[in-house]
Amino acid sequence: MSCKNCEIKPIIELTNNNIKLCKSCFLKYFERKAFRTISKYNLIDDKDVIGIAASGGKDSFAVLYLLNKLANKKKDIKIKIIAIDEGIKNYRNLDHLKNYCKENNLELYIYSFEEEFGISLDEIKNKINLKPCSACGVLRRSLLNSKARELNLNKIATGHNLDDEAQSIIMNLFRGNLERSARLGPITGIKKDKRFIPRIKPLYFLTEKEVATYVFINKFPVDFCECPNSSGSYRTQVRKTINDFEEKQKGTKHAIISSFIEELPLLKEKFKDVEIKSCEKCGEPCSSNICKACELIEDIKSKPLNKI
Ligand code: SF4
Ligand code: ZN
Repeated sequence: MSCKNCEIKPIIELTNNNIKLCKSCFLKYFERKAFRTISKYNLIDDKDVIGIAASGGKDSFAVLYLLNKLANKKKDIKIKIIAIDEGIKNYRNLDHLKNYCKENNLELYIYSFEEEFGISLDEIKNKINLKPCSACGVLRRSLLNSKARELNLNKIATGHNLDDEAQSIIMNLFRGNLERSARLGPITGIKKDKRFIPRIKPLYFLTEKEVATYVFINKFPVDFCECPNSSGSYRTQVRKTINDFEEKQKGTKHAIISSFIEELPLLKEKFKDVEIKSCEKCGEPCSSNICKACELIEDIKSKPLNKI
C-alpha cells in the first residue's frame, strides 16, 4: 500500500487511524500538528521569551528544532535552552546538545543538582529510601521554575508527547490524585500565578513513535540511551500497561487523551481555589509551608550515606 496522499512508499503507519504516510508527507503532518497545537491552545504569544527544557533526548530535540524554526520566522519570539544535569553516571551526557546549540547560535544554560543542591542524584540514591525518579522529578521541577524566573522567561517548553501525557493521566488516576491531573494539558497550571512559569507542550498530540520517526529522519544528534533508574519506576509499569492495551486495542492512547481534554476544563474549575503558598525557605510556590524540594534536601542532609 502507498502513502495516503501520493504514490510513494510509506515509512510510517499512524497508530490511531491506520493511515500510511511517506517521508515528506509525514514531515508535513508532524509539523502541521505541532504548530496547530500551538495555535489552537494559545501556547505561544508574540514577545514570549521561551525556555526550552532540553535533555539531549529525542523529544526535547524535536521541540527545540520546531521552536527555533518558529523563532526564526517570528522575530519577536525569543528562545533560550535550559538543561539540567542531575548527576546520573553513564547516562546524562549533554555534549551533543552543547555542540548543536553552538552550531545553531542558541543560548544554552546548564544547571546541575551538584551545584544547585550540593548533591548529585547518584548520591541522593544512596542516602534516602525514595525512588530516584520521585527525587529527580521534585528537584528538576523546582530548579526549572526558579531558573526560568531568573532568566526572565515567561514559558517553558517541554518535549512531553502523547504517550507521556497518557501515562501521567493514568498514573494520577491510579493514585487518586485528580488535583495533579488538573495541572496537566497542553499548557500547565490551574490558574495564572506569576510565581509559576507555565509549561507548554507542542508535541502533546504526537505519539512517541511519531516523535522518534521525526527525529530519525532529521538526523538530530540524539542520545537514545535509557536512564538506568527508569526500569523499576511507576511510570515504566504504567507505560507497559498502556502499550499492552494499545497493542490489543488500537487507539487506546488517543482515546485517553481526547477524553481527558474534554474533562480538563471541569477539573481546572474544580481545583481553581486551591491555595498556593510560598516556601518559607526558598520562596518557590507550593501547597504547604515548605516546598517538596526543600523538604527533600533537608531530609537528605540529615542522613548519613548508606553503606552499600
Ligand atoms: Fe530522573 Fe527517573 Fe527520568 Fe532518570 S528516569 S532522568 S531518574 S525521572
Ligand atoms: Zn523551598
